[in-house]
Amino acid sequence: MPQVGISLGSNLGERLSILSAAVRSLHRPQAGLKLLGISAWYETEPIGPPQPNYINGCILLETTLPPERLLHALQRRENYWQRQRRERWGPRTLDLDILFYDEAVASTEELTLPHPRMAERGFVLVPLVEVAPNWRHPLDGRTAQQLLSSVTIQGIQLWQDRRMLLHEIGPIDLRPLVPADFGKLHTLALRCWLATYQGLLSESYIQDFVEHAYHPITLEQALTRAGSAFWVAQDSTGELIGFAQVIIEQRSALLVRLYVAPEWQGHRLGWNLWQMVLAKMCRAKVTTCTLTVLQTNRRAIQYYERIGFKQIGLADGERYEYKYTINP
Ligand code: ATP
Ligand code: CA
Ligand code: CA
Repeated sequence: MPQVGISLGSNLGERLSILSAAVRSLHRPQAGLKLLGISAWYETEPIGPPQPNYINGCILLETTLPPERLLHALQRRENYWQRQRRERWGPRTLDLDILFYDEAVASTEELTLPHPRMAERGFVLVPLVEVAPNWRHPLDGRTAQQLLSSVTIQGIQLWQDRRMLLHEIGPIDLRPLVPADFGKLHTLALRCWLATYQGLLSESYIQDFVEHAYHPITLEQALTRAGSAFWVAQDSTGELIGFAQVIIEQRSALLVRLYVAPEWQGHRLGWNLWQMVLAKMCRAKVTTCTLTVLQTNRRAIQYYERIGFKQIGLADGERYEYKYTINP
């Protein structure tokens, strides 16, 4: 199925809420839109006439829609946010551009592919390399990563606002895993992996991971194993959007997984799941928790450091070991 890179930008209104809503609205598997990856958000200085700063990001989608229909789907979302077109490169509530559609090259009145100005824009390329570092520009021959190395990234800052709290985005249900969740959990795990490791791991590696770790039998064992706790987060539509698994043995805990669906990252869901893990550890009088993270998963590493894990060493060439100590 074709993969497409889309850049998102907003500099009017509640920028982050608009962008998050746009991302969530672009994950509609039944309508041929499947989210594979989402970058962090960046605050960037505007190009064009004087106007407020932008928040920019990128997503990677898999889609069955042909390019023009995809463009129309994006324009409907821009219109929903009352996007006004007054002057070229003027301020807007939402801008959704198709950066690339696989390696398609096209130039019609309506649509140019790849996006004609993407290669010179740091605010496009910085988030793009997070979701599609190895995508190759069909005309220029360079990968997204290589394109980024020849533009300036001045004026582009990682956006670290955490004001988007759970209560602003509807009720989230945090509860123990049950066998009826197994199928959904499998899909969620696969999406999280694809989003995090896009372009870094081979397909067979990912398939192996999902087949072993998320096979119903393995999950059944995890549920019945002494000391193992497994929680899931579910949104108001019943979709699974995150999960945490911990194994407690005597006085120490092993955090096996803490995953949040890409379109829900930045909403404190991981933090809420982590609080459940911590509560369980405290009840079991556990004082430390260890975890192993693949070196390639830089965003996860940053996240674990933010919630209090400290690196204790390299497990092997590819994996870092981390430790969390309660009341050190
Ligand atoms: P820029 O294209 O330089 O980022 P912009 O996003 O502000 O500028 P818009 O006013 O949003 O420009 O779009 C103008 C037109 O560009 C749209 O009506 C659309 O038909 C056309 N267009 C051409 N190629 C693309 C593309 N790859 N993605 C989105 N729009 C495109
Ligand atoms: Ca644009
Ligand atoms: Ca546009």
